[in-house]
Amino acid sequence: MILLGPPGAGKGTQASRIAESLSVPKVASGDLFRDQQARDTKLGRLARSYMETGGLVPDDVTIRIVMEWIKAHEGEGGFLLDGFPRTRVQAEALDREIVESGGIDRALYVNVSTKELVRRLAGRIICRSCQTPYHEYSSPPIMVGKCDRCGGDLYQRDDDKAEAVQKRLEVYFKETDPLVQFYREAGILREIDGEGTVEDVGTALLEAIER
Ligand code: ADP
Ligand code: AMP
Repeated sequence: MILLGPPGAGKGTQASRIAESLSVPKVASGDLFRDQQARDTKLGRLARSYMETGGLVPDDVTIRIVMEWIKAHEGEGGFLLDGFPRTRVQAEALDREIVESGGIDRALYVNVSTKELVRRLAGRIICRSCQTPYHEYSSPPIMVGKCDRCGGDLYQRDDDKAEAVQKRLEVYFKETDPLVQFYREAGILREIDGEGTVEDVGTALLEAIER
């Protein structure tokens, strides 16, 4: 399954809930890149140069790192991808690479208005260790500055600052939004209203997976 939607739609928030409730592994391509940056690898340094301005990391590198993750989790009863694919080239590569295991069953599209996305991204803080997202007003952690799950430090991502957010939204509408139609034509798109509470959106997603 894949989670599709603009930055700030709530994909990461819901990916953890879906993965726990269905007992499937999940990954966010953005988390893979942030992990490489934290370890200061060559790939991490390359990814940073695109991420800090809100652009996309090139397709070849992105496809390679996500496919490595998928191969490492084969045989675990499926998987959930968050933030991948983001371009047509990535979507076609994914289809090709997993054709033998039955392909993608569901593309879950979380739809949120641009105004609400900007509000969510401006208040997002994430854990430096496990990357769990919080919101300073709507989903604050129990202890200020500390992750409820692992106790790690919370910080604001550089690319959640206003200038990068505008660019990321533009890139989303140009490169990624066309995938909504791509998966609709494939008959596997399920659209969910992402503006309700975290619980309501979670329930709608689980229903859409069953539908
Ligand atoms: P994405 O992974 O799609 O970029 P996140 O899951 O990181 O989005 O959520 C973006 C921000 O919005 C976070 O601060 C998160 O706490 C908050 N958020 C997520 N879902 C909701 C919701 N249903 N209502 C209000 N805020 C939400
Ligand atoms: P995210 O955590 O999903 O908001 O992603 C943060 C950043 O990582 C994006 O703005 C891109 O620079 C990069 N990124 C994440 N996923 C992809 C992808 N599938 N293709 C290209 N770049 C990506």
